[in-house]
Amino acid sequence: MEIKFVESESSNKLYRLVVNETWCKGCKICVDMCPTKTLAMVEAPDRWEGSIVKVVAMDACTGCGVCEAECPDFAIVVHAPEKKKAAAGGAA
Ligand code: SF4
Ligand code: SF4
Repeated sequence: MEIKFVESESSNKLYRLVVNETWCKGCKICVDMCPTKTLAMVEAPDRWEGSIVKVVAMDACTGCGVCEAECPDFAIVVHAPEKKKAAAGGAA
């Protein structure tokens, strides 16, 4: 099966979200957990769940990583400067 990725970037270029729409099962956990309402569920009649996550307010995203951490299906990846620093060993 072809995997469909949808990327969104904040206008200040700091934050990027990559949603794997093939893996998203429409559970809405990320939408409920996102503190900034960056994400929303939209109707997707072609999906068995009937809905899928979409990035609706990318400039509200703070790169906190909650959506990535809470998604049970590994369907969201957050790219943010803080994460890069952490991956490099936490050096400021
Ligand atoms: S938590 Fe994951 S599977 Fe659930 S709606 Fe969000 S992206 Fe889709
Ligand atoms: S990284 Fe944080 S602010 Fe951005 S969409 Fe995910 S939960 Fe919301």
